[in-house]
Amino acid sequence: MPTAPTVSIARCDDYDAPKVYAAVKKALEQVDGIHKLVGQNKKVLLKLNLLTSSLGPEYAINTHPSVARALVDFFQKETGAEVYIGDSSGSLRFGSTNKAFKLTKLDKVTEETGAKWVNFDQDKFIDIKKSNGATLPRFRMARTVKDVDLVVSVPKLKTHGLTKYTGALKNTLGVIPAKGKKDVHIQAPKPSDFAQALIDVYEEVKPHLTLMDAVIGMEGNGPNAGDPRKIGLIMASTNGVAIDAVASSIIGYDPLSIPTIRYGQERGLGTADLNKINVKGERISDVAIPDFKKPGNIAQDFALNYLPGFIFAKLFDVSCESYSTVYEPNCTKCYACIKNCPVQAITPTGTDGTARVDKEKCIGCFCCDEVCDYKAIVMERHALGKVFLRIAELLGSEKTR
Ligand code: SF4
Ligand code: SF4
Repeated sequence: MPTAPTVSIARCDDYDAPKVYAAVKKALEQVDGIHKLVGQNKKVLLKLNLLTSSLGPEYAINTHPSVARALVDFFQKETGAEVYIGDSSGSLRFGSTNKAFKLTKLDKVTEETGAKWVNFDQDKFIDIKKSNGATLPRFRMARTVKDVDLVVSVPKLKTHGLTKYTGALKNTLGVIPAKGKKDVHIQAPKPSDFAQALIDVYEEVKPHLTLMDAVIGMEGNGPNAGDPRKIGLIMASTNGVAIDAVASSIIGYDPLSIPTIRYGQERGLGTADLNKINVKGERISDVAIPDFKKPGNIAQDFALNYLPGFIFAKLFDVSCESYSTVYEPNCTKCYACIKNCPVQAITPTGTDGTARVDKEKCIGCFCCDEVCDYKAIVMERHALGKVFLRIAELLGSEKTR
């Protein structure tokens, strides 16, 4: 019988460095078999979540530098490891990943510790070919991910307008360099296909360990335009499905209503059944935040939990498919959205040159929303989705923005 995965939860009130180090150490040491796993003198990659290249750590979008620093210290001191920090940011603007690195104050971390920065957009690449039937049959990923001995995924706990929630299973998308991420959206335009594509990538990377920054997470309109919300936790696990199941339930979701978690379980990558997960440290009920604000995502937990696969995907798509619009008073004409749109649906043809979206071309991928720092992108549901939204509100199954 396979052993139950461990998900470890440690409290951490704020980003004060000694407190974060203590919580990271505690969370890691509660994971079963951690000492055997981390070993000695290995090459360790910390795959952070560096979505924004223009908003600092106080916005709770990227993995916080204190968490990165604590992990570097842990691996260097406890195991003598050679530590690498890497990611590719969510923006296609030239130089955005290096900008995200500096803005997140990771340059200080590498200077002070000797850890090495790997910009995945400039790394050597390897081409991955998946077996027949994969949503993402081919993609290109940063070679460092395969060259190291230990991959540690370090996501931020946030809501996400397209996938409802983002944590461990979605964080591995960043191993694909900038333009490749654009292709993922083109190949998998439907929300359910995009979630399967995320699992295709996760399956290939299969991080040995996940350490989640849930000290200050993001609620509401995540992953970029939501509001920071204190969760006060650092979490760790060797299993991405299990840690996402626990983290999503802490913020009030049923794990199986989150498509990545559901597909991860269906594809044999772990269990989302909270009764089969060995939760160590804090109890879920003691740290749960039931009033955590969810994005305006109308897929209904109560229905999605019990529906068979293909109906789940259909309902999820109908209820989540969106198109973007621009709220002109907030638009600064920075045009980051234009550069990030994978299907060239945005042009500077709004009033006085503000951005405007061609609804017919838009595939609802949220790439513009992820890079707009001015809350000028508004994601709208299609008509049928709005009907579901109304039903969801009437049934009170999910809070919407
Ligand atoms: S919508 Fe946002 S990202 Fe696009 S041009 Fe306006 S301010 Fe910039
Ligand atoms: S307009 Fe925005 S949501 Fe629509 S396809 Fe372009 S980037 Fe994606």
